[in-house]
Amino acid sequence: MGNRYYDVVVIGAGIHGVGVAQAAAAAGHSVLVLEQEGLASGTSSRSSKLIHGGLRYLEGMQFSLVRECLRERALLLKNAPSLVKLQPFYIPIYKDTRRRPWLIRTGLTLYAVMGGFHRASLFRSLGREKWHTLDGLDTIGLEAVFRYYDAQTDDAALTRAVMHSAESLGALLETGAQFTDGQLHNDGAVIQYQKNGQTIACEARAVVNAAGPWVNQVLAKISPQQTPQTVDLVQGTHIVIEGRLTKGIYYMEAPSDRRAVFAMPWQGKILVGTTERRFGPDADPGTVAPTEEEARYLLQTIASYFPAYRNLQRNPIFSAFAGLRVLPRAADSNENESPFSRPRETVLLPDREQAPRLLTIYGGKLTAYRATAEKCLKQLRSTLPDRDATADTRCLTLKDPQPQQDG
Ligand SMILES: Cc1cc2nc3c(=O)[nH]c(=O)nc-3n(C[C@H](O)[C@H](O)[C@H](O)COP(=O)(O)OP(=O)(O)OC[C@H]3O[C@@H](n4cnc5c(N)ncnc54)[C@H](O)[C@@H]3O)c2cc1C
Repeated sequence: MGNRYYDVVVIGAGIHGVGVAQAAAAAGHSVLVLEQEGLASGTSSRSSKLIHGGLRYLEGMQFSLVRECLRERALLLKNAPSLVKLQPFYIPIYKDTRRRPWLIRTGLTLYAVMGGFHRASLFRSLGREKWHTLDGLDTIGLEAVFRYYDAQTDDAALTRAVMHSAESLGALLETGAQFTDGQLHNDGAVIQYQKNGQTIACEARAVVNAAGPWVNQVLAKISPQQTPQTVDLVQGTHIVIEGRLTKGIYYMEAPSDRRAVFAMPWQGKILVGTTERRFGPDADPGTVAPTEEEARYLLQTIASYFPAYRNLQRNPIFSAFAGLRVLPRAADSNENESPFSRPRETVLLPDREQAPRLLTIYGGKLTAYRATAEKCLKQLRSTLPDRDATADTRCLTLKDPQPQQDG
């Protein structure tokens, strides 16, 4: 047992797992990533696919998160130009829109300041004469339309690209490899996983639990027993509908609850999302699926902005998918408090203060995966052996090894 040795074993090949693999390999460490299904088979292929600062997080005063995400967005635009593309975003404001023009203008000004007045941070209010060019947007009762810029990606392709970069630095990936047991000892851990019906063991100096919504299931398989962070899982659904948006991405307010919903061009169709719905704490994350109620909510939202989607004869839904947000609960919050307005910061939980052998990632953003991965490496620095760094993740070019043609 334990005949294979790695500096770092990562559990989960979503964006966080592959990000940690890339950062660890760039720092000169040997790395194995274990993934029970395939690359990006969890949340990292079911996101809104935005590489963004998160304009709406300004409402919750999450300034450091927005600043970090904007910095990461700038790096991704530079390092992954074939995968991360700047897009115009439009915010239409009607008489009954809750977020008034002054609020949007203030938010966008702050966003531009935080983005360092980079070209990608500039915004403007579009003149009335331009409104009719906006993909059939309803202009009745329209008071203002703001345009700003953020970026869009293909989340699964980005995950593949980061893993490809990690592999080129020496990291190994095992797919179809389910982590089943971890025993922490003084100098590291013995890990077991199942692959093709066989149990395989290896040893690691440090283990990173990047299992996304499965995070506490993985933690429960580690001994000595670890105290988990309490989390809420919140389901977010997207629908893909027939149609085209040629101008960019629209930032809408759902008529029923005033939540932000995006409509964006996606593979020759339109992606609309997302919803927020509590997911049962004991339910299996692998069973998350869109509901009819969510699809109806998203269709009603797009129809309220684009008249072409009212009174349709045919069902325009082409496909739908759902993913789970992992929202860590603060120590002073209670079970009944709504998780929807909770801060979206990432929590890194070590098994012990000094020289942690295990680091568990809770929550996080696709956009900030690299910054999160570097924070993990920093926390593990005292645990890991000294190695010579071979690369800097801020400069590594990212390319999808299996690019797909846009449909
Ligand atoms: C609806 C929605 C929309 C979002 N939109 C955006 C957005 O537009 N922009 C943005 O920046 N962020 C967005 N996010 C956040 C972002 O998508 C997530 O933070 C990110 O994808 C999480 O990645 P992860 O690697 O932590 O988890 P996952 O991608 O879920 O990866 C975890 C992996 O662990 C594997 N695993 C689990 N258990 C085991 C085991 N026992 N053994 C081996 N492998 C295991 C799973 O199979 C899975 O592949 C969104 C999230 C949601 C839910």
